[in-house]
Amino acid sequence: MRLILKYGGTSISTPKHIKDIAKHIYTLSKQNQILVVCSAIGGITDELLEKHQLIIKGEKTQAKQLTEKVIQRHKLLAKKTISNAKIRKNLLDNLNSDFKELVALTDGMVLLGEVTPRSLDYLISFGERLSIKIISSALLDIGIKSVPLTGKEVGIVTDSNFGASKPLMDTTRFRVSKNVDSLFAKKIVPVIGGFSGADQHGRVTTFGRGGSDYTATIIASCINTDEIWLMSDVDGLMTADPKIVKEARILNQVSYVEAIEMSLYGAKQIHPRTFEPLLSKKVPMRIRNSFNIKNEGTLVTAYTDAATKKTVKCVSVIRNSGLIDVRGGSMVGVPGTAAKIFVTLAKVGVNVMMISQNPSESSISIVVKKTDLEKAVNALEIELLGKIIKKLEVTPDVAIVALIGSGMRGTVGVASKVFGAVSKKKVNVVMITQGSSELNLAFVVKDSDCGSAVQALHDEFELVRQTSEMDKKI
Ligand code: ASP
Ligand code: MG
Repeated sequence: MRLILKYGGTSISTPKHIKDIAKHIYTLSKQNQILVVCSAIGGITDELLEKHQLIIKGEKTQAKQLTEKVIQRHKLLAKKTISNAKIRKNLLDNLNSDFKELVALTDGMVLLGEVTPRSLDYLISFGERLSIKIISSALLDIGIKSVPLTGKEVGIVTDSNFGASKPLMDTTRFRVSKNVDSLFAKKIVPVIGGFSGADQHGRVTTFGRGGSDYTATIIASCINTDEIWLMSDVDGLMTADPKIVKEARILNQVSYVEAIEMSLYGAKQIHPRTFEPLLSKKVPMRIRNSFNIKNEGTLVTAYTDAATKKTVKCVSVIRNSGLIDVRGGSMVGVPGTAAKIFVTLAKVGVNVMMISQNPSESSISIVVKKTDLEKAVNALEIELLGKIIKKLEVTPDVAIVALIGSGMRGTVGVASKVFGAVSKKKVNVVMITQGSSELNLAFVVKDSDCGSAVQALHDEFELVRQTSEMDKKI
């Protein structure tokens, strides 16, 4: 089999973790052709982003200290991971030239006191640039031929939308397949840095947070691949958060579209564009735990298997949310009202998670992150209160409960089952939405009620029994 293995930051954050994954790759490489994609070492991208904040605030000393901390962490990791003295020395020499560039970059940014989207992408791409060298050396250390390559080096070409770039697939496909095929021909395991590529002028770009998943699928669509495994620190996608529902189970199989919905909520966050490159090639993906490789994880496929096509697959929850109810008679029948509200929120950088408006048009309900609530309410008050809005009503502690499963589509009675189960627990539902795709039915409750709502739905739809049946059929 030809396999793409993508490791998240936590899977490679200590010498032991790196040695363990190297051994696993060694075993797999006996029977499979392997390509590795890596994130930055756990926590590094966050630190690089923190550094950018310090530079903006003019905290020069602290910014430089943070650079030093990032450098020391990689040095120590390199020293403790690699046993062979020659490989270790090569690695440290190699890392040193990156460290010099990182220091020079920080100095330059500090001097200017300015961060542009382009320089920010360059800065945060260092996480993967450093991690791949350590991982690739760890493979060499146990006798696997390997080379590290950044996204730019392997041939990922993107547009120039720094911070949220998209690959230019035709050029990328051509370059990536040529580079990877020649490495495979020499029996070399490529270790590729996720998260970034370069635009047509060779300037480094990134795909946005969590973008290494996207790198893995971009590469999968460029070369022939049998499977992609996303290796992280969770066993797979689950029927519910096990902290809320004790008996929550791992899902054996879900479809791409279901996985997209689930990844927005669950413990395993996946970059939102991850499945796009797979849609034409339909490469199966497994979500697996690098710390528990005996577990098969969740298989994500283009189609829903008939055996697993149950109404509901999982119940998820987003806590720490706030609800704003915007009211006013002058909103009724006036085109552009909703647009004004959303533009106002967008201007202050507030992301809207859920919206509903009933046909009377006299109110619009909006759910945002709790941390954005004050900003959102302020902006709406300043811009629109007394004009199109008469009144703002705010509920600070709410949670979104969502049921996900493509089997809900066209199935009669799902909603009555949901709200029947919730009402038996005396939980009040504040707001409801269901997209016409019918993949996801979501509603809002008081945060203190979310545990009992999730448990009630997990019981009502018998998610434990359904996953056991799937076990038998797969
Ligand atoms: N290192 C990047 C991040 O933390 C990309 C990734 O981990 O997928 O967002
Ligand atoms: Mg990450």
